Order: sequence, then C-alpha cells, then structure tokens
Amino acid sequence: MKIEEMPEDIRPFIVPSPQGRMYYHCLECHSEHPIEELLYTCPHCKGVLLLEYQGDFSHEVPGSKLKQILEYRKLANIQSLKGIFRYYEFIAPILPLEHVLYLGEGNTPMVLANGALRDMAKREFFFKLDGLNPSASFKDRGMACALSYLNYLVNVKNINLLAICASTGDTSAAAALYCSYVRDRISCCVLLPKGKVTLQQLSQPLGHGSKVLELPGLFDDCMKVVEYLAEVYNVALLNSKNSWRILGQESFSYEIAQDFDWDMEKKVIVVPIGNAGNITAVLSGFLKFFKKGLIKSLPKIVGVQSEHADPVYRYYSLPKDKRRFEPVNVRPSVAQAAMIGNPVSMPRVIRLVEEYNLFSHKENVFVVNVKEQDIMDSMMMANRNGNVVCTQGGESLAGFLRAVREGIVEEEEIGILDSTAHMLKFISFQDMYFQDSFDASFEIIPKKELQNAPYFVTTERFKERPDSSSRAEFVREIGEEIARILDLSPRR
Ligand SMILES: *Cc1c(COP(=O)(O)O)cnc(C)c1O
Ligand SMILES: [Zn+2]
Repeated sequence: MKIEEMPEDIRPFIVPSPQGRMYYHCLECHSEHPIEELLYTCPHCKGVLLLEYQGDFSHEVPGSKLKQILEYRKLANIQSLKGIFRYYEFIAPILPLEHVLYLGEGNTPMVLANGALRDMAKREFFFKLDGLNPSASFKDRGMACALSYLNYLVNVKNINLLAICASTGDTSAAAALYCSYVRDRISCCVLLPKGKVTLQQLSQPLGHGSKVLELPGLFDDCMKVVEYLAEVYNVALLNSKNSWRILGQESFSYEIAQDFDWDMEKKVIVVPIGNAGNITAVLSGFLKFFKKGLIKSLPKIVGVQSEHADPVYRYYSLPKDKRRFEPVNVRPSVAQAAMIGNPVSMPRVIRLVEEYNLFSHKENVFVVNVKEQDIMDSMMMANRNGNVVCTQGGESLAGFLRAVREGIVEEEEIGILDSTAHMLKFISFQDMYFQDSFDASFEIIPKKELQNAPYFVTTERFKERPDSSSRAEFVREIGEEIARILDLSPRR
C-alpha cells in the first residue's frame, strides 16, 4: 500500500526516524556504557549487559496510534521495514533506516495444530514456524538486528570488522548469512564443536563464505574461546551475549501479539531453552509491549529443557530462597541446539522472570524438563500432522504436553509453541529414529508406528531402468506391483 493511501494521521509515522539514545546497562553494577564501543560484558565488573533506550517516542507517536501504525506499516512496501524493524520503536530506535538489513526474516506463520494434535494436548495450540526464516531458524531475528547495528557502525566509522561467534549450528548459519550480505566491510568466522552440529548446519556457513573453525569439545568450550577472543582482540562477538541480538529476537513476541490482535489473555508461549537468549528476548518483548500499553495482559511463558541439559529447570525447581545457579554437565541431546550446561543469559533470565512475575501479579513463568524420548516422539508426531518442526520444536511440544499434565496450562488457555528451526536442519535425528541407530546415551527407543522408510519397487524382470523397447512393459509391471503393495481397487 502506498503511504499516501493510508489515513492522514498515520502517514507521518510509517517511516520512522532515529531519536533518543541507547546505552548498555550492566545488570550487576548498573553502570552505563556507550554503544559506540563493541561491548559484550561490563568493562567494570564483567557483568552481563542489556541495551536500554532513553527517549520517549510516545511524545512523537501517541500510544493509542501505535497499534494502528504497526498495522499500516505491515502493509507498506518498504524493504527495511518488512522484517523485524517493523517494530522499529521497540528494537533500535537510533538506527538510521539506510543501514538496516532485511534478508527476509520475521513474519513467520502461526499454524493452528490439527485435530489429532489438539486432541493429544486437550488444548488448542499453534506452532509458530520460525524455521521459515531465511537461514531456517529464529536466529535470523537477532542477527538482522546485530548486523544492522554493525553495518551502521562500520559505515559511520569507516572501518572493516571481523565478526565471530561460537555456535551449536544455527547462530553460525545466521551470522554467516547476514555477514555475507555486507561482506565488503564485515567478514565472518565461526567456531563449532567438531561433530556436534548437523551436516546441514555445517554446510551453511561454508556456503556463505565464512571461515569455519572446528574445535575439539562442546559448545560451552567454544563459547569460552570466543569470549576470550572478544576480550583480547578487536572482533565483534555475535553470540547472544551481544545484546543487539536480544533486541531483534524480541520481534517474536511482537508478532505473536499483533497476530492475536493484541489480545494476550489466556495465551501460553512455549520456548526451548539453550543459552537462554531466546527466552530472555521473549520475556523482554512482552514486557515492553505491556509497559507501552499495546497489550493488556502478559501471556504465560513456559521454558522447556531436556533432562540431559537442564540447568535452568534445576534452578527454578528449587525453593525461592534456596536458588543458586549451578552449571550442569550436559549429556547427548537430540535438541542439540539447546545442549548447553552454562547458559550465558542466565543473569538476564533471573532478572526478567522476577520483573515479569511482578507485572503479572502472579507466577507467570514456568520451566519444565522433558525426556529425550518425548522430544523425539513429539517432533515425529508434529511433522506427521502437517507441521515443519525440528527437534527443538519437538521439545516445545513435549514441554507443552508436560505443562498440560502438570496443570501449568489451564483448560481454556491457548498454546503458541516455538518451532525454532526447520525440520531439515536436524533431519539426521529423524534418520536415527527411522533406523533405530541412536547411541545408547540418548536413551531413545523409536516407536514402530512413527518409523518410516523408502521402499524400492522392483519385479522379477525389472531390477534396473528399462531400455526404450521395454518401457511399456516396465510401466505395466511396476504399476501392477505398486497396485499390489497399496492394495488398490480397480476403477469401476
Ligand atoms: C539457538 C537455538 C535454540 C536455543 O535458543 P537459546 O536462545 O540458546 O536459548 C533452540 N532451538 C534452535 C533451533 C536454536 O537454534
Ligand atoms: Zn558492571
């Protein structure tokens, strides 16, 4: 829609311009630091940072109009506002639009679960298919914001940068994609735990031209190395320690609110937890919308972890006065992207959960843990019923079912389950399920009724491709064989 076709009072606000200021805020010592520096931890106390905005766009944009502006912005054909920056005022209101990158991220569909799945959960629920982002995971949301900021920085300062990240597979895929778009200024290097990302995930940064370094060890080890590099050398860190990523990921919450016409009453958001950047962003996003009055109530949040990597679950299962965070040693998990024993964003989660419950006037954030078996079975079930869900999406479903069983989710509540990546990224786990080839440490026994395999059709005469003289017989013989296999009845 052309801007001049929109209501007159909305037009001036469709294309936003930078205003106010942003700064890093240390969660530990509460010091403030300018965003012109590349900072990931507090230079005073090494505490975790969050980005804060100072300035009040509601002077300029009246709150009552904000919803309408966001609705009309959805219709505007402006590249930089097509993705997560539709929520410009809530993400990074200081970035000039010409530096904003849009590679097709955001606006992912919310798909109502079919009858069979809803019967299973005895609830209505949706999958939000974040695997339909350009690099096939939700990580693109945060990366679009982090790279827009870096793009702004390198252009204003007229410098080149090396961006670096550790990854369980999807962060590196997203980082590589966004860096490759601005490769004249920003190059990319990714550190991966050797053998601990899928073939598909490994191929993504390679295809986008990143330097790919494999390390012996697990993600937590790679993370420590990247942190060291970012501390000692002049590199831009792209892990979720980078607060710009959190801002971009908040768009997940904004889209859900907008897709429900700003009504978050009786809604339950279910997300898998790994490094805890995503749940941080989800909490923070809904809080921002709530504080600005765009939504009248805060949805329930359910975080899910595998029993094989559940430090956040363990923390919250302790009584309030006994809570102390302890990293865990992870065991192999099919939810490999969440196989993290020492989540970097834990201090953010602890602070935000407190604030979230406070504003909700009740306990409104829950963490459940689930069995590896349930994660796999749930992924298989979801995909059998018309969804495109990865192992972590399976974890969301397993967690939702668990939360229903435990009475965390009430009868009339509606679930929105995060399918964080595309099923094809984690298809090796589906293969293991079909072939019953899981290592014993996963503790997974495939269910017969959920297995599947291709069937090679041959006949006595045709074991190979026919030559042209026998093609007609090939079609008939193979056709008859297929009719027998499928038990087809002839047309009358
Ligand atoms: C990164 C990732 C997660 C975990 O998200 P965190 O922000 O690390 O908690 C879950 N699923 C997929 C597919 C991911 O790539
Ligand atoms: Zn500090």
